[in-house]
Amino acid sequence: MSNGTSRKGLVWLRRDLRLYDHAALKHALAECQAVYFCFIFDTDILDQLPGQQSNLGLSKSALLKFDRRVDFIWQSLAEIDLELRNQGSGLIVRHGKAVEELPLLATALGVSAVYANSDYEPSAIARDVSMAKTLAKNDIGFYEFKDQVIFEKKEILTNSNTVFSVFTPYKNNWLRSLREIDLAPHDCLPKAGQFARLPKAFDLGLPSLASLGFLPTGLEQYLPAGSKGGELFLNDFLKRIDQYQIGRDFPALKGVSYLSTHLRFGTLSIRGLVREAHRRMLAGSLGATTWLGELIWRDFYFMILANHPRLANGAAFKPDYDKIVWESGLQAKKLFTAWCEGKTGYPLVDAAMHQLNQSGYMHNRLRMVVASFLSKDLGLDWRWGEAYFAAHLTDFELASNNGGWQWASSSGCDSQPYFRIFNPITQSERFDAQGNFIRRYIPALSKLSNKSIHAPWLAGHIELEAAGILLGRDYPEPIVDHDVARKNTLIRYSVVKKVAP
Ligand code: FAD
Repeated sequence: MSNGTSRKGLVWLRRDLRLYDHAALKHALAECQAVYFCFIFDTDILDQLPGQQSNLGLSKSALLKFDRRVDFIWQSLAEIDLELRNQGSGLIVRHGKAVEELPLLATALGVSAVYANSDYEPSAIARDVSMAKTLAKNDIGFYEFKDQVIFEKKEILTNSNTVFSVFTPYKNNWLRSLREIDLAPHDCLPKAGQFARLPKAFDLGLPSLASLGFLPTGLEQYLPAGSKGGELFLNDFLKRIDQYQIGRDFPALKGVSYLSTHLRFGTLSIRGLVREAHRRMLAGSLGATTWLGELIWRDFYFMILANHPRLANGAAFKPDYDKIVWESGLQAKKLFTAWCEGKTGYPLVDAAMHQLNQSGYMHNRLRMVVASFLSKDLGLDWRWGEAYFAAHLTDFELASNNGGWQWASSSGCDSQPYFRIFNPITQSERFDAQGNFIRRYIPALSKLSNKSIHAPWLAGHIELEAAGILLGRDYPEPIVDHDVARKNTLIRYSVVKKVAP
């Protein structure tokens, strides 16, 4: 690399929206005298976003889309821009095809190299390969760094040097392999003037959400964006982390961290979170130990996707499971619509879907329950549910979402055995015993007793009437009978059980 005294570099922010403990930024600062920052609202991605129904009333313009992720990104960028401006620099934001915009920008700025953190999704890898080639034609380097995970690709291998497909031995090896240096924060303090002042022609500020084609979503009221928002949530969670293992399975309680969107967009550093959890684990915190296990699941699924890119194209991890014949036709579509809209007649499933539709978040226990319900009670292809989650989750992340869906439908690595079928009523009785979560999202059922709220159709006429509920009018009758569905599922899955026990 050339000497650092005259070198200019461009940090391309993607899913790492912060200015501290940032691998690409550290390297840019080490190698360049002047560092620029850019983010590209990539129309190759934005154009594919379906947009969702706004729950803020009718949109002002039918042409604008509602997407909480875009809003979260936008707000996080506003924070970064402000921070950079306070240091005499600023963020360059472009709206267009990244593969075209970035080379134009890098050339116009006269930088020697673009610095970015690695993305492990197959489409992003293809884009980055093509980007590196285009930049190279103009003598501009493209450097990528591990930042999003603690261990990537093939860093954690079995004794026979193969990739793990079972979580627990992967986790044990992950923990054994961990060294202090893996968690050390990347120093991102600039020397005076190193954050480059923006030439006037590039100083255009942050485009409005509307100019990008999106509506504000009101997300900031419950999920503050940016590193500041992440720190707020993290500090709140650290007060509760030691009880994580007790509360994490109960959706009505504040038992989990709610940090997934911050992890998704890198407003918090994974190294910081693992450092904190690991330190507390060594000090004997069971909650922190359990939570660290969840962060390792995240690394695990990134590793699985990186080594099995075919998963991004809808392939079952266990190929035999692609032989399963799912329900299809009009009736299947009706069942799917009822699932999406939270109208299955199973209160915990419906409350979970309302949580997702109203907030863009769903509790982990409920993700498992609704995913199992879709594939094993409704007999629908798990890919339909995966796609619905992908469109609606603010924390949507291809590797974990695919991993979660394949786990629940039994086609994944280290997944639920096919014959383990969640009973949505028992799950409800165990994890929402008082019905508090259900009451929060389905007010129509609020007057039912703690016993009946899990399966209203089993309540007597007198109780239903006293609670003001007429099934079919105020709340749906169950769309399937769980016991019948269970038997059908065992038959449906029998195509795989002999081949892949
Ligand atoms: P916490 O319980 O506080 O966990 C902390 C962090 O650990 C999470 O933020 C997440 O980064 C990671 N984590 C926790 N559980 C898992 C897991 N099972 N797999 C991978 N990482 C995990 N997570 C996503 O981030 N994006 C998704 O698109 C996604 N889709 C899912 C789909 C299904 C069907 C299932 C069963 C799970 C999915 N998960 C997904 C995993 C998990 O449900 C969420 O990470 C979690 O609910 C987020 O809430 P939290 O931050 O409060 O989690």
